[in-house]
Amino acid sequence: MRPKFIAGNWKMTSTLAQAKELAAAVAKGTSANPDLLVGVCPPFPWLTAVAEALKGSAVQLGGQDCHYEKEGAFTGSVSPAMLLEAGCQWVILGHSERRHGLGETDELLNKKLKSALAAGLKVIFCIGELLAEREANTTETVLDRQLTAGLVGITPEHMKNVVIAYEPVWAIGTGKVASPEQAQEAHAFVRGKIASLLGENTAKNVLIQYGGSVKPDNAATLLHLPDVDGALVGGASLKADTFLAIVNAGKRL
Ligand code: PEP
Repeated sequence: MRPKFIAGNWKMTSTLAQAKELAAAVAKGTSANPDLLVGVCPPFPWLTAVAEALKGSAVQLGGQDCHYEKEGAFTGSVSPAMLLEAGCQWVILGHSERRHGLGETDELLNKKLKSALAAGLKVIFCIGELLAEREANTTETVLDRQLTAGLVGITPEHMKNVVIAYEPVWAIGTGKVASPEQAQEAHAFVRGKIASLLGENTAKNVLIQYGGSVKPDNAATLLHLPDVDGALVGGASLKADTFLAIVNAGKRL
């Protein structure tokens, strides 16, 4: 049985004081449970302070991006090793705000993925289609391309440290959540594609999170679909009560 994994993406929000308060509240409200994993991904400057606030709790820490190089003249970037040293176990790669907002390509994301895994980070690897792509019935073509190109050189062993986040771009931050049918269909497609790329066993075990306007009132339905193994949560992760309500919705029924 796959566990559920609920991760909060705080994006570029919060003051230091707010980040520490939110982390402490999430830590307090989360108990260790191998069936229900919880993580938060604050902005880079707050990582060490949030790591401190999470100390002794079951909440895991992630960065929101990293460079593929180990170090050097890359102004504004952080390396996988820096994230690890700041206390992260995870990094989000390929979020739509970086793919579509900053032009990150499948090839670049594949380099980042391999570098993050080689350094010892676990990766939440985001994929998802634009509204125009869904309306043109090309969702599966897009997901196929993002997985095929994104996972070049990735082995079943690597995949033990990779979570896929299916995030339809039209649902991120819009309040328009995918219907249970749309989510299940896309997740089943993603799992099938992983089976064809990396084998049935990897596909059976890989966690596939849904992301896009997950809220306390829609979380339970989404989180208990057969191929949905958790959620990547943006807006609703910025308040401890809404985030913890989503976490609780992931508890085994
Ligand atoms: C996200 O940023 O990954 C996300 C899913 O945001 P929201 O929950 O606000 O739609």
